[in-house]
Amino acid sequence: MTDSNSILNIVSKVKPQEIYNLAAQSHVAVSFEMPEFTTNTVALGTLRILESIMIVDKKIKFYQAGSSEMFGKVEQIPQKEKTPFYPRSPYGVAKLYSHWITVNYRESYKLFASNGILFNHESPLRGETFVTKKIVKALCRIKYNKQKKLFLGNLYAKRDWGHAGDFVEAMWKILQHKKPDDFVISTGKQYTIKQFLNLVAKKLNIKIKWKGAGIEEKAYDQNNNCIVECRKKYFRPAEVDSLVGDASKARKILRWKPKRNINQLIDDMISYELKEVINDKKGF
Ligand code: GDP
Repeated sequence: MTDSNSILNIVSKVKPQEIYNLAAQSHVAVSFEMPEFTTNTVALGTLRILESIMIVDKKIKFYQAGSSEMFGKVEQIPQKEKTPFYPRSPYGVAKLYSHWITVNYRESYKLFASNGILFNHESPLRGETFVTKKIVKALCRIKYNKQKKLFLGNLYAKRDWGHAGDFVEAMWKILQHKKPDDFVISTGKQYTIKQFLNLVAKKLNIKIKWKGAGIEEKAYDQNNNCIVECRKKYFRPAEVDSLVGDASKARKILRWKPKRNINQLIDDMISYELKEVINDKKGF
């Protein structure tokens, strides 16, 4: 994504009918540590693909993976396509560039270039440093005595989590629509990190009691072992406190709606992780 020639070469060689740009340094916390690399891959990377489409074939359809992080410090609840943006991280700011350069190339050069503004979407394949995967993996390991504790940051941020399988279908539908356009893709339901953790614990039959407040808030299991603690290093310099999307445009125009709810998402993630734990003979 940082090298125009490589992108141009591969687009010329493959001559695709559609390009889905999901490439990025995609971790919000990491973007504060590596803002330049994040901007290069996320923002300029998008421009490089659009330029390669201009050179190779203007008929190639382009999907840009936008993010609810562009709404950041939200200006409206729930967030929809016309909600003003207010990104809160180098990642969010870079995604906003990608959003507008996609709109600009659509309007300037009549490319079939569309933005999906996707809220958080998770699956067993989620990277291990994202909070849903981190929680599911740690609680499964704690359940089987392979790990003692989980360290988290802000327990009270709220997210609208969907299943990645449903969201990928939405990406495809966006490019099959008769004209290029921008769509919010979300479930419309939000949970705090703590609520997500409680749901996972319940499904694993771990009885949790929360004690303390702020950075000192901790969770204990039925044997009074402390299994969750907070650490300052997992808090962000600027937080996105609450995200919840309104996908009614996609529901109406694309006839898309999520097939799986948060319970099915967690079941899917747990069943994958339990297999991993059982196959891991090394122990803690
Ligand atoms: P994001 O919404 O793209 O930033 O996805 P993440 O899964 O990385 O983070 C979702 C939310 O969980 C954010 O508000 C984080 O501040 C919060 N969070 C709390 N503890 C953690 C943690 O230990 N790791 C991560 N990644 N996020 C955490």
